[in-house]
Amino acid sequence: MFCSQCGSPCAERVPDGDDRPRSVCGGCGTIHYQNPRIVVGAMVLHEGALLICRRAIEPREGFWTCPGGFMECEESMAQAAARETWEEARARVRILAPLATLDLPHIHQVHAFFRAELAEPGAAPGPESHEVEWLPVGQVLQREWAFPVMEQALEWWVKDTAGTSFHQGRLDWDGVGPRYALESYELGEHWCSA
Ligand code: ZN
Repeated sequence: MFCSQCGSPCAERVPDGDDRPRSVCGGCGTIHYQNPRIVVGAMVLHEGALLICRRAIEPREGFWTCPGGFMECEESMAQAAARETWEEARARVRILAPLATLDLPHIHQVHAFFRAELAEPGAAPGPESHEVEWLPVGQVLQREWAFPVMEQALEWWVKDTAGTSFHQGRLDWDGVGPRYALESYELGEHWCSA
């Protein structure tokens, strides 16, 4: 890795006063910290059905998910969730309330999910989706989902689709099972507001 400040090579070492290796520039001494990234998603409920997208991009191309993606700088999590819903499902939504946050320590991500409704009628696949579908709430847990973190959030969502309960959890991969199966994960922490 090269330093984003001065272009010199960086090396992994433990800086003075720190307790773990960091990428440190050999030229200007800048410490390049790596921190978890934030991924947001939206559960859009309309007339008893959930807005879902079949992914047209890797990872998990061809599998179903709710609209979501990496947060950009200079936006809030709720704005990011609404933006991703437009990009992937061409739906203009109103974010109603937070649903859940889930830590995925093993891949350095934090996922935040929001309850949402349509602000304008209509949905259609964006460039990153093969198709979109309105899935009746009663069928949500039968569907095969692209990502275990989404499946976990949906298990909470279907129990309280119109409510305000908020969950915080942590998913730990068991290190053995398939990475895309929720059964390979343990819910290491879980709080619920209701
Ligand atoms: Zn440098």
